[in-house]
Amino acid sequence: MSGVALVTGGSRGIGAATAHRLVAAGYQVVTASRTGAAPTGITVAGSIAMDVADPESIEAGLDEVVKEHGSISVLIANAGITRDALVMRMSDEDIDQVLMTNLAGTIRLCRGVARGMLRAKAGRIVLVSSVVALMGSAGQVNYSASKAGLIGAARSLARELGSRGITVNVVAPGFVNTDMTSELDEQRRSEILSAIPAGRYAEPDEVAAAIEFLVGPAAAYITGAIMPVDGGLGMGH
Ligand code: NAP
Repeated sequence: MSGVALVTGGSRGIGAATAHRLVAAGYQVVTASRTGAAPTGITVAGSIAMDVADPESIEAGLDEVVKEHGSISVLIANAGITRDALVMRMSDEDIDQVLMTNLAGTIRLCRGVARGMLRAKAGRIVLVSSVVALMGSAGQVNYSASKAGLIGAARSLARELGSRGITVNVVAPGFVNTDMTSELDEQRRSEILSAIPAGRYAEPDEVAAAIEFLVGPAAAYITGAIMPVDGGLGMGH
């Protein structure tokens, strides 16, 4: 598989690491984020401002990518946010923002790229979920629900699109060294570390490696799968 790869949340963290790998593998990579900042250290084909919580922004962003670079053959739906709080203290905005960004935004992106992939009879979609989708996580009712929703979405998409050469898979990272986890305090960090069989957090490139595999030719017969990259934290689910 080659061609245009759109990586949402590609400005930093896991998305930037994925952009690095896909550029090195020969894809024409376009990154998207609210700021539109390009990932550092590589030259991407394009970097656009797109807010995946805003349906109009998604539509305009996808149109821009297709117009400038051609049909999208790979979608990495990676943009995501947390708004953590115990459920009794979780605001409506915390619920709406997380579900709109992580879940509804991803479904809209998949819908947006599906037409071109169906026409091409080829495509790769990877949704970035989380170990907490299946484990649950106190303080993350909104986030874990959004990430569990991605699994249902991916498997339904895999059924809808599978006969047309399109695969749809989920990568479920555990704890990864990015801006998202840098907010955790020391006590929470050491609690988490003690539960991870590998005894450490992942580096973003370790998640990107799994994503690169799933979009590559060796993974043509893998669809509807959940690939954990979690140091063993979620095993058994
Ligand atoms: P990060 O370092 O916080 O980066 C998040 C990326 O998403 C940034 O590029 C950000 O750019 C973009 N983004 C956020 N909201 C957006 C929106 N509404 N529209 C478009 N782009 C948006 O996060 P990360 O740790 O790399 O996480 C990437 C994905 O992996 C997320 O889906 C996260 O839930 C998942 N994940 C992370 C971990 C972890 O331990 N880090 C574990 C499991 C799963 P802007 O701010 O410019 O928009």
